[in-house]
Amino acid sequence: MGATFPMPYMIGAVLGLAFAFKIVWAALRSHLVAKHSCVGDIADLGKPRSESEKIRGTAVVAGGSYAGLAAACVLHDHFERVVIIEPEAWLLEEDGRRAISWEQEGKRARIVQYNSLQATQPFVLRALRCMFPNWDATCKEGGIEIAPWTVNFMWWGNSAIVPTKEFGGSIPDAMWATRRALETAMRRRVLDRKAYPNITQIAGQVTGFITDKSRGDAVSGCTYRDVDGNSNDMHAVFVADCTGTAQGSLKWLPAAGWSTNIPKDTYDAKMRYTTFMFKIRPELAAKLPVPGGFYRRSGGYLANMPDPRNDNKHLSILRNEGDLLSVCPGGWGNTGPPLKNIDDILAHCKAMKVTKPLPQWIFDTIDLLREAEDDMSLSQVNVGPSFLVKFHECRDLPNNFVALGDVVSRVNPMYGHGCAKAITGAICMNNLLQRARNSQSLPRNFSRDFFKMQLDKITPMWELSVLNDYGQPSTVPIAGENKSSTDGIRWYLRQVQKLSFKDADAFLPTFLAVSLLGGTNIDLLHPAFVAKVMWNTLMG
Ligand SMILES: Cc1cc2nc3c(=O)[nH]c(=O)nc-3n(C[C@H](O)[C@H](O)[C@H](O)COP(=O)(O)OP(=O)(O)OC[C@H]3O[C@@H](n4cnc5c(N)ncnc54)[C@H](O)[C@@H]3O)c2cc1C
Repeated sequence: MGATFPMPYMIGAVLGLAFAFKIVWAALRSHLVAKHSCVGDIADLGKPRSESEKIRGTAVVAGGSYAGLAAACVLHDHFERVVIIEPEAWLLEEDGRRAISWEQEGKRARIVQYNSLQATQPFVLRALRCMFPNWDATCKEGGIEIAPWTVNFMWWGNSAIVPTKEFGGSIPDAMWATRRALETAMRRRVLDRKAYPNITQIAGQVTGFITDKSRGDAVSGCTYRDVDGNSNDMHAVFVADCTGTAQGSLKWLPAAGWSTNIPKDTYDAKMRYTTFMFKIRPELAAKLPVPGGFYRRSGGYLANMPDPRNDNKHLSILRNEGDLLSVCPGGWGNTGPPLKNIDDILAHCKAMKVTKPLPQWIFDTIDLLREAEDDMSLSQVNVGPSFLVKFHECRDLPNNFVALGDVVSRVNPMYGHGCAKAITGAICMNNLLQRARNSQSLPRNFSRDFFKMQLDKITPMWELSVLNDYGQPSTVPIAGENKSSTDGIRWYLRQVQKLSFKDADAFLPTFLAVSLLGGTNIDLLHPAFVAKVMWNTLMG
């Protein structure tokens, strides 16, 4: 006869195991959140060294857009002097810093997205609040509303239930700002000479690195062409490449004798992105049947994603500052002829494959926009391939060099992660510079540690894009990869999405991942979560 255990011992053992599992799971989860997100790092922003503690010399930032502005703000806390080199000279004028961005006359020549729909996550707001004291006042001055991130996420016509319980009964705030407004607001702060006396921006185009054989592991600055076409040297102790998809350092590094083999993963989701932007006047606003009214707090009216098994079209509608309404119908692969007018948007919406009809207010709203069609703006963008540059695998990089933002990775704009990705890079720089704040020189392996940390923290944004895009038949995968290898994960995520239409807890992992507020993949794998999803699948 085998030994038998009295029932109380059995119950005690089970409870003990469950308790141990809970502790181990929580520890693993917080480790992964710290590794793969920046939520825990935000509080370390905006803590400058004293002037005497700062690293002597100049930190140069190539590019003055999201990544460059965020990088300059961080570097100002740690370096004696910061110089941003940016080719678009008009950004130095008053117009480039105008509070009311819709009155801006200049247009960014090199930013593909400039007139496209812009969404940013609560994470971006939290980070900017720590980087720039009184950031909310800057938003207010520019008419940028700070309000709950009610994006109304839908999958094939079904709304997910927002997990407000996680946030104490509310939805975290975000900024409802166009690309133009957000970039300009950041510039207004960074180029404020009173707050940042040691940051200067000059008009020019960085053309290469200056190398100095006596400084074996570092570059000595960069060369740049000024607006008159003259070539100049900018000596520096640190260089940040923030040139976006121009990817300056991929040319500068090999030309200066550094890494010649910089690996890069590329795939093409063949993404088309059309944004119709309307200026809504009060008379029209009063008629638009948006739930809660056009002027309700928060401009996130709708973001509907397709089931990639049978559809390639998406639709987003949101309101930003200045009562600008962006309607963005787009999709993967062949979405038909370019969309040019209201009839085309309506046809796009009608052709979307949904399991629950899109609410009528969407069609009625779009139809009413004919009244504002005369002065609408239209931006049609073929987004171009997504990529991840593997700087972290390069053995031969200068220790005083970093690259962030779109230089390192371009992801599908669907999730609006571009600005967040750039800020993530700036936060990684800050993390490492804060750790070394007792020293006036860069730690050894700075560049290597930076690229490793940045990779860990941007990987979730990259993987979300890949996973989603690989479901579309038209996507051309990374060389050597098989799209169908991700079919199983997508199947499971579809079951999670289905449950999220009736259960807020099921939407929580996705909400955390998309809002960048500390999601981690293991949230989807917790045994209780998996059991709930499977039960819902079995029950239909
Ligand atoms: C259609 C579309 C929609 C998008 N929607 C969103 C969204 O909703 N939310 C979001 O957050 N992101 C969105 N994005 C992504 C976002 O536009 C980018 O991720 C973001 O602009 C990257 O910022 P960056 O500073 O790295 O690069 P960029 O913004 O591209 O800036 C690069 C800067 O470098 C300068 N430069 C170039 N070459 C040089 C040189 N040699 N020397 C010096 N300077 C140089 C350029 O003039 C520019 O100012 C979208 C993108 C597209 C295409």
